Amino acid sequence: MSADCLFCRIARGELPAHKVHEDEHVLAFLDLHPIRPGHTLVIPKDHHVWFEDLPEALATSVTGCAQRLARAMKRLYRVERVAMFYTGIHVPHAHAHVVPMHHVHDVSSAAYLADGPEGYAVPPQLPGDEMSRIARELQDTLQ
Ligand SMILES: [Zn+2]
Repeated sequence: MSADCLFCRIARGELPAHKVHEDEHVLAFLDLHPIRPGHTLVIPKDHHVWFEDLPEALATSVTGCAQRLARAMKRLYRVERVAMFYTGIHVPHAHAHVVPMHHVHDVSSAAYLADGPEGYAVPPQLPGDEMSRIARELQDTLQ
């Protein structure tokens, strides 16, 4: 826990939130600035800044909550897909965004927008040897 962390304060009940789910380890509540109605944040109750630093069991609890939310959102909003992502932006307490996707660019990268918001550009492929190098680099760094 961190005394002045916004999300720790929400997890402790010191600040209000539109809670969607709460259990011993995880809290899910509506994002104050939703991409789409239903856009929810899932946080571990313990303070961790980066998702990659979450203990794996806790990360699994966050993901499991996001999966249950996604199934509910599909039923509720009649969407084909739900996005789940961590960005690490805004609040330095790991939080997964869960967003019902009504449009293919609801959570898009500019890399996919070359054809404009109604199109969907496929970013250019990197040369095979560069892809091999990047894969090796990642594999080696994972050790
Ligand atoms: Zn925190």
